[in-house]
Amino acid sequence: MTDTAAATLSVRNPRTGQPDYELPVHDAAQVAAVARALREAQPAWQDGGLPARLAAIAAFAEAILAGREALVAALTADTGRRRESVMEVDAMAATLRRWINDAPALLADAPPRRSQIPHIRIEERKRPYPVAGVISPWNFPLILSLIDAVPALIAGCAVLVKPSEVTSRFVPVLERVIATVPGLPAVLRFVTGAGATGEAVVRNSDVLCFTGSVRTGRRVGELAAQVFIPCHLELGGKDAAIVCADADIELAVRALTFGSMVNAGQTCMSIERCYVHRSIHDKFAAALAASVGRLRHCHPGLDDGEIGPIIAAIQAPIVQRHLEDAYARGARALTGGRLLHHGGGDWLQPTVLVDATQDMAIVREETFAAVLPVMPFGDEEEAIRLANDTDYGLSGCVFSRDLERARRIAGRLNAGAISINDAALTGMVHDAPKQSFGFSGLGGSRMGKPSLQRFYRMQALLINEGEPSPWWFDR
Ligand code: NAD
Repeated sequence: MTDTAAATLSVRNPRTGQPDYELPVHDAAQVAAVARALREAQPAWQDGGLPARLAAIAAFAEAILAGREALVAALTADTGRRRESVMEVDAMAATLRRWINDAPALLADAPPRRSQIPHIRIEERKRPYPVAGVISPWNFPLILSLIDAVPALIAGCAVLVKPSEVTSRFVPVLERVIATVPGLPAVLRFVTGAGATGEAVVRNSDVLCFTGSVRTGRRVGELAAQVFIPCHLELGGKDAAIVCADADIELAVRALTFGSMVNAGQTCMSIERCYVHRSIHDKFAAALAASVGRLRHCHPGLDDGEIGPIIAAIQAPIVQRHLEDAYARGARALTGGRLLHHGGGDWLQPTVLVDATQDMAIVREETFAAVLPVMPFGDEEEAIRLANDTDYGLSGCVFSRDLERARRIAGRLNAGAISINDAALTGMVHDAPKQSFGFSGLGGSRMGKPSLQRFYRMQALLINEGEPSPWWFDR
């Protein structure tokens, strides 16, 4: 679809800070035209049946792997990091295969049955929404464009995707991959652009999946309510880790190094606050700082280290503000601590803070960067209170050798998924249902089996196999 856009938007390269890509911008009329074409193609996709749809999804998985090199290159140009780009492509192919396995049982119609009125037979139907809209952010451009699109396609919807304007270089490459899969190009279409294009996607969809910030999610939710469509919002987070006195410190350090620093901290389920029992706080913070301090920027070479640049230009000033606020109020960096500008890009040194307090911006607001404040707690009650003292509720984690204690704490945390003796597992484990708490989201579960249910409505056929109902109107 990108060839028909009249306007373009200059896109900045996250490694050089320079614009190096002209993004086609689709206006409202163009988005409406794509949605119309999808709406026309959808009935054949639905009526073709589940086996045919799954065959197309299997071919899509193969095509993604065949196009792996080009996709990785485009995602790397979009984001400035390579390791996570490889992971995105491979994880997407694996996700498609999981759906192919799970979908037949999940979409099987329940056998007809008698209602409580014996001569009334019930038959259930699943009626897919014709057009599912997907709007996605810049931190994992491929995964977050397809994570909802794939179950929607399997359920029988046609899908309209608008990825972030910050990271849309991968779109034409993915469109070439889609073009090789018979039947798919008619029901999986991309449009590109910024907020106005996104609003047009909302206006032209029958169900919407949005991933992004709370601020935009609220606007999208309001617009979806106006046009009267269901809207599933996956928003920001400020995930907390609780490290109990009996935790395996080495294991917790390893898990939290990954869980807070992967993708340079630009993941929704990144651990952004770490509460550690006072008795092990200093030892733990020092060990974490040593571990995080060994991480290096992927600079000057793409494969040089583990930590990529800050992808979106708008994020660097937010990170800088959070750090300045933290230092002004007494926090200290045990390692890292500064925003650097290598070769024109913005790079945060992998950072561990101590002496942070609950009122600091870096503890309250989403920072979305490679920084983790470590703070002490006295007892379980205090740990739970501090972890729950947030507007967010996406996920979290608990470390303890006592599984009962970990379960007990997890059961009182207000968040959709809690990793136990690991961190940020929701990034890798997509088959456990979870829903967000607080401002982290609204709507059905994106993960696990219920994910499919977001894309169809149940229709009941109520078949009278006896006399017409002998109500008191009969004479
Ligand atoms: P964002 O809200 O700025 O943008 C997200 C998308 O919305 C983009 O495609 C953007 O063009 C579009 N958009 C902007 N204005 C719009 C409007 N008025 N109507 C419709 N669409 C509009 O978010 P971002 O900065 O791209 O992404 C980072 C945020 O995403 C972080 O808060 C992060 O936590 C969150 N996120 C959440 C999850 C999750 O699963 N919960 C996953 C990844 C990222």
